[in-house]
Amino acid sequence: MRLVLLGPPGAGKGTQAVELKQALGIPHISTGEMLRAAIAAGTPVGLKAKELVESGRLVPDEMIGEIVEQRLAQTDAAGGFLLDGFPRTVGQAGILDKTLVPLGARLDAVLYMMLDDAAIMERLSGRRTCAACGSPTHVTGARSKKEGTCERCGGRLVQREDDREEVVARRVQVYREQTEPLVEHYRRRGLLREVPAAGSVETVQRRMLAAVQGSGS
Ligand code: AMP
Repeated sequence: MRLVLLGPPGAGKGTQAVELKQALGIPHISTGEMLRAAIAAGTPVGLKAKELVESGRLVPDEMIGEIVEQRLAQTDAAGGFLLDGFPRTVGQAGILDKTLVPLGARLDAVLYMMLDDAAIMERLSGRRTCAACGSPTHVTGARSKKEGTCERCGGRLVQREDDREEVVARRVQVYREQTEPLVEHYRRRGLLREVPAAGSVETVQRRMLAAVQGSGS
């Protein structure tokens, strides 16, 4: 299946992607994670992206488009993929369509994770991310039983630079202005599946799987 996860920052895209990837056997492609890895490694892309990412702004469409095009051309993505954090603008949706044509592929569904503003702020300000494997967790969540340690790999939990309070507000604003128009864009194309994203990880996971199963193949 070829799926896109759409939703505001903090909706739980990363958390759900980890579960869905296992259930469906398709690679999880997170543009945010790819950018953070490039920044940490100090690659040319990372150097260009660093300030934008850390201040909650989007990197240019062409730059992220190129990264995604290269990633989708890899063999593990031939049978399907789960895109997390891309597309984020209507322009990027166009880039994705153009990228899929030569691969003879098309999207099966866009899973829209819906969450209100108060819940977004609460989730993001309490979010911690594993410095080693990138898994997200929440300071009050069941996953941080052993404080400060990732339950998946034992790595150190840190706050993402762009989860700081002053940056979160900008990310939500950028989402509303630039990404939310994709909801109507994909609804018009009949690809949108609405998934309420409030509730436990397990509850949302069941809704996500039901939404995917309702999408054919
Ligand atoms: P995420 O991990 O998806 O929340 O992404 C973290 C940050 O990476 C975003 O706030 C942007 O600065 C950047 N980013 C990730 N994906 C994209 C994208 N598709 N287009 C532009 N910027 C992106």
